[in-house]
Amino acid sequence: MSDTPHIENASSAAAANEKQLNFLEEIIEQGLNEGTYKSILTRFPPEPNGYLHIGHAKSICLNFGLAKKYGGKTNLRFDDTNPVKEDTEYVDAIQDDIRWLGFQWAGIHYASDYFDQLYEWAVVLIKKGLAYVDDQTLEEIRANRGTVTVPGKNSPYRDRSVEENLDLFARMKAGEFEDGSKVLRAKIDMAHPNMQFRDPIMYRILHAHHHRTGDKWCIYPMYDYAHGQSDSIENITHSICTLEFDIHRPLYDWFIEQLGIFPSHQYEFARLNINYTVMSKRKLLQLVKENYVSGWDDPRMPTICGFRRRGYTPESIRSFCERIGVAKRDNIIDYSLLEFSLREHLNKVAQRRMAVLDPVKVVIDNYPEGETEMLTAINNPENAEDGTREVPFSRELYIERDDFMENPPKKYFRMAPGQEVRLRYAYFVTCQSVEKDAEGNITCIHCTYDPATRGGDSPDGRKVKGTIHWVSAQHAIDAEVRMFDRLFATEAPDEAPEGKTFLDNLNPNSLQTLQHCKLEPSLASASMQKNAETGIMEPERFQFERLGYFCVDRDSTAEHLVFNRSCTLKDSWAKMSKSKKSGGATNG
Ligand code: ATP
Ligand code: MG
Repeated sequence: MSDTPHIENASSAAAANEKQLNFLEEIIEQGLNEGTYKSILTRFPPEPNGYLHIGHAKSICLNFGLAKKYGGKTNLRFDDTNPVKEDTEYVDAIQDDIRWLGFQWAGIHYASDYFDQLYEWAVVLIKKGLAYVDDQTLEEIRANRGTVTVPGKNSPYRDRSVEENLDLFARMKAGEFEDGSKVLRAKIDMAHPNMQFRDPIMYRILHAHHHRTGDKWCIYPMYDYAHGQSDSIENITHSICTLEFDIHRPLYDWFIEQLGIFPSHQYEFARLNINYTVMSKRKLLQLVKENYVSGWDDPRMPTICGFRRRGYTPESIRSFCERIGVAKRDNIIDYSLLEFSLREHLNKVAQRRMAVLDPVKVVIDNYPEGETEMLTAINNPENAEDGTREVPFSRELYIERDDFMENPPKKYFRMAPGQEVRLRYAYFVTCQSVEKDAEGNITCIHCTYDPATRGGDSPDGRKVKGTIHWVSAQHAIDAEVRMFDRLFATEAPDEAPEGKTFLDNLNPNSLQTLQHCKLEPSLASASMQKNAETGIMEPERFQFERLGYFCVDRDSTAEHLVFNRSCTLKDSWAKMSKSKKSGGATNG
């Protein structure tokens, strides 16, 4: 845990993507070979107090992935022992996210289903003289716990008789006592070198309504008492959790041993950390509640539903998780590795379309007025089966404003006065003149075209260096396009200087909304689609040629199309830091 975090980038991680067994696979194979178990059963145990984030995706891919690989199964268990923060909204969203990621649980369980059993086991421990009711306040308990170097002090209530403890515990359950007035503690050793063994709290009194058990309970089990026993009830063979729980493992084993129940075992792996984002549910909730983002599924959020709305595919998230692997030490993964995984998948599956985000009008002066012709465009050069489509071409077009320069520098190969350029799938054109408004902004570019270059090739082998995209003005459809950048401007947003919080590290330019973008007409039907297998609505995804990957947003309607930019075609952040080093960007 004390290792310094290291940053991994896309190329080094991709290169290191060797098919070696990770430490969990080694443990599982050993157990299977030795006959410790015949098959494995893992679980994914979210607390339904927020939406799942990309860190959870790693845990999901790991738990479900291991079971799949070894012919085992995975349970979904809601760790709902903390009624105050939990809600059924989260329970439903979590299930959608797991199914969207492509996994199906064997059983769905709730720790709250085990409240009766857990209570009975607590009674067993009281009878064995291994648990007692303590009347100290939480402050007193904390103060008497000692430190790593100083032993704790026994509670004055520690030697209560079994009968008295049974009576008090039953009355705690019956609601006779106020919140915080008593707890049930395991009776282990107040001088134990592992602080977790210093009479850990098993139950607390909490008169709170639970989203499943209603008002049945006013005592709730603590994580350490509930988790291992829940695993054991389900016969979980491998209870996989993040590293910070390693000091809890001996206690996990202790309860199971004292109760003589199914021996589940806990294994720890390094949690996923990514730069330029925060991953604590508490902070994500704050971003939502205080309207820094539009909701849990804001496309800038590191939540699974945020990535889904942003246009990420389940495949890209799974391959990201595969690529980062499973480690026993904490590290920080570069955000660009996520985008790398997305690009890699969308490059294979996304249909290409033409869209102009910042349009300027082009008139082809020698093209017949009123005529439209259909030109053939390739849907996906990576997949011949995707075929072709027809794109209308006419005398008036739109091109990207920054694909034209009146006084271009050397090596600017796009449209400029007198410079021939290819319109993708269409013709070679040459700019002859421009019209400007009173402020000097270009309002219209006049070109001529060469009819012999139809389809984008010249019959005489004449070459042009630049190819630009376009849409026919008369046929184009309008759309709003939302451009996203990283939600945080700093690599480690959790680290804020004195008097500041992670909110001060938000990137003020993380959302830019473009209106009146011009799209080729085939995009008019782009919509959200129900995934046949999961029933979950997913956006149609496209590559807008030369611009990046985009998907339909769920706000989109037939009257007002809305697209999200999922990612650029190249890693613009890497380019930026490179150009900073070399002293300035060049515009090729
Ligand atoms: P948070 O700290 O964000 O609130 P949590 O750990 O409280 O997260 P849980 O709902 O308890 O969230 O987590 C469910 C499972 O997901 C646990 O097994 C937990 O270890 C795992 N998990 C949570 N965050 C990460 C992460 N960043 N990387 C890997 N696994 C994670
Ligand atoms: Mg937790």
